[in-house]
Amino acid sequence: MQNSENHITLITPTAPMAVATHGGRAKCLQRLVRMELPVPLTVALSFRAVKEIAAGRMPDLSELTSVFDGGALLCVRPSSEDPDWGGPEAVLNIGMNDATYVELSDRVGQEAAAQLYLRFVKYFSVHVARLDPDAFDEITAKGSEGLRAALAAYEEETDEPFPQSREKQLAEVLRSMARAWEGTSARLLRQAKGAPADAGLGLIVQQMVLGIGAGECGSGVIQFVNSDTGQPQITGRYLSQSQGREALLQREALYLECDARGPSLQEHAPQAFDELLDFGARMRRRLREEMEIEFTIENGHAHIIDGLRVKRSNRAALRIAVDLAESGVIDRAEAVMRIQPRALSELLHRQVDPTAKRDRIGRGVAASPGAATGRIVFDSAEAQASAARFEACILVRRETQPEDIRGMHAAAGVLTERGGMTSHAAVIGRGLGLPCVVGVEDLRFNLRKKTLVTKDGRLFKAGDVITVDGTTGDVLAGEPAMLEAALDDSLQTLMEWADEFRDIEIRANADTPADAQTARNFKAQGIGLARTEHMFFEADRLTAMREMIFADTAEDRRAALDRILPMQRADFIDLFRIMQGLPVCIRLFDPPLHEFLPSDRGGLLNLAEALDLPVSDVTRRAEQLEEYNPMLGLRGVRLGVTVPEIYEMQARAIFEATIEASREGEPVVPEIMIPLVSAKREVELVKTRVDAVAAAVRTETGRDFTYRLGVMAETPRACLRAGDIASHAAFMSFGTNDLTQMTYGLSRDDAGRFMSAYVTEGVYPEDPFHTLDLDGVGELLQLAAERARETRPEITLSICGEHGGNPESIAFCRSAGLDYVSCSPFRVPGARLAAAQFALMDNRTS
Ligand code: PEP
Ligand code: MG
Repeated sequence: MQNSENHITLITPTAPMAVATHGGRAKCLQRLVRMELPVPLTVALSFRAVKEIAAGRMPDLSELTSVFDGGALLCVRPSSEDPDWGGPEAVLNIGMNDATYVELSDRVGQEAAAQLYLRFVKYFSVHVARLDPDAFDEITAKGSEGLRAALAAYEEETDEPFPQSREKQLAEVLRSMARAWEGTSARLLRQAKGAPADAGLGLIVQQMVLGIGAGECGSGVIQFVNSDTGQPQITGRYLSQSQGREALLQREALYLECDARGPSLQEHAPQAFDELLDFGARMRRRLREEMEIEFTIENGHAHIIDGLRVKRSNRAALRIAVDLAESGVIDRAEAVMRIQPRALSELLHRQVDPTAKRDRIGRGVAASPGAATGRIVFDSAEAQASAARFEACILVRRETQPEDIRGMHAAAGVLTERGGMTSHAAVIGRGLGLPCVVGVEDLRFNLRKKTLVTKDGRLFKAGDVITVDGTTGDVLAGEPAMLEAALDDSLQTLMEWADEFRDIEIRANADTPADAQTARNFKAQGIGLARTEHMFFEADRLTAMREMIFADTAEDRRAALDRILPMQRADFIDLFRIMQGLPVCIRLFDPPLHEFLPSDRGGLLNLAEALDLPVSDVTRRAEQLEEYNPMLGLRGVRLGVTVPEIYEMQARAIFEATIEASREGEPVVPEIMIPLVSAKREVELVKTRVDAVAAAVRTETGRDFTYRLGVMAETPRACLRAGDIASHAAFMSFGTNDLTQMTYGLSRDDAGRFMSAYVTEGVYPEDPFHTLDLDGVGELLQLAAERARETRPEITLSICGEHGGNPESIAFCRSAGLDYVSCSPFRVPGARLAAAQFALMDNRTS
């Protein structure tokens, strides 16, 4: 059967049918039919047919129903393009009427038949005829007595007997399902899941295999992998004398495989169980996917009612893709294409084992993914002490402040009473890959008494063990079982495959040895940006830094910086050693100097004491350094030109560290990056001085080394003059944070206040600080890349702003011919995967 425009189609191996016209369920059933699996007779209604029905134009159903056995019961299920978009609930047992009731009573017994009929009458009355649900909820009697009451209630409410014609029942069901799809709430719900406004609904009408009757009859659901982990595991349930998915709801349902917990289908009906295993294996191979099968057993034999892609966590999705490729069902490229780069973030951190018992004592905002267990500490000093004893701790604060940074480094996880996704703890936690839950409302934080009290009065003191789950926002008592992150072999495997296809390098932005180690673990191909300024904020250097700021002569400045030099050298030796064999790009000092001076009176007084100067001197100097617009003021290379001693000290520290780190392994070739350049002459001046320092270090040590000097292109002028500037630069890295700020004239620190209004109003399609603005900033970048390459074809080009880890931006960087992108360490795996996917997509279309 096939109506003229293929809108009502019997599913046969060759019937014209596509996901885009009939939905995923119809297409999947056709595939199963092609495999000659025992699928009951099914007719598919296209999106167009369903739309017509919703508009009140019912097709001729006599032709449709003529393909089914005369007295057979039917069911209707939705078939949308993407199963995640939802759809109306399946309706079973259409065709139930007084005659089939009598006939079924003979076959399956009167009570069972009455139960089927009753359920259908209730469902039809409430969901299809839209009668008052109370009238039917009141009917508590089961079996034939309940049935009599329900039929009477229907008649009472409608003044008509319950429809007896299968065709009429079907027409009503189709109409109500078609209209439900058109309803506003259904539309909003699916649009929230990514469905387009005009998403269509198909319907399938299927002859029912009853699941009730003589011999072994029943229904169930089976899948062959665990939905949380993706590990092979037969899961599901089976219930004798049941229909649909009832087995999943009933306690007396059987396990599928032999199970110590209770009786199983394997023991009860081994032949049907073996059939299911066989169907499952064939479906996996042919559909190239892990499938969940809804099945019915009739007289000992299994029938497939429905096949659905197994629901899965991100972790499971990854394992399934890798397992399918390893068993030759799909190829590696396809496995790489199947995983969303953004989904990796959840996998890169330790997680609470989904099967572990969770003793939840509080819940807050899941601010930084991953889970950590440790003893409660209430301040940063305790956290550091705990770390010194190699004891994991959870830092509990009202809210973290900048001075908590050391405590955060020392802690395994952070828990704060206040805050949201962008609060200090959240931002720093994500940067460090530190699990973090903030804004916990249902725990009372008593920081003076050093206790946490749950709603039901449980008390947790300093030293007690808790777990923060930054993936879900849960706070748990004790130490649940964990799943390790990087140890997941399927993640490593997929990453290795991704690297086979990838054609752009991925580096990491890393400032500390811990960052560098993470970058190395995630197989970053070097450090693309080591910001050096935070190194000057360490307590032991801050004083020397301030002395340098207050010095009147170059000599005095040098003397102050000489005290920082060995510490800075040690910083670089650490980075070089960890990244041995890979490039490390160190950015010279960038921020304005006034950031190193206290701003309040108390701080100025302390500083005056420390420097042995009158407060008035200190205050005056601080005032002199103040700028109206420091981000556009004396910072970056401008400091390098006007206070050259800082860059000279840094260059020396880099070269001495290079020599030191090269003693033990491969020679290190450092990259030195000059920030905020806007003119060629700036580069010339800095280059001359850096070269002079290199020459001096070579002479002093008698050791040779090489290095590369490059620029950060983060002002529009640097992009426009890239041809000029490139003549002195071995590499050019686009600092798209500042470049976006300056291209738009939009403060990166203040734009958050009105960004959402701008995006909502459609002024910007996205926040340009998150997603690279391809039209404006992107054009500058492209133009700079072209001009730079014209002058110096071998120049290395890259991006190191926040955008480096964003998949859309990576696509752009590839197309602009950049050599690498650099992003924060925890984004490296996602970037590796995204880059591989873009390369694969290009290969497919070329
Ligand atoms: C940039 O501006 O893009 C950049 C990477 O540097 P920072 O964020 O340190 O200014
Ligand atoms: Mg910058």
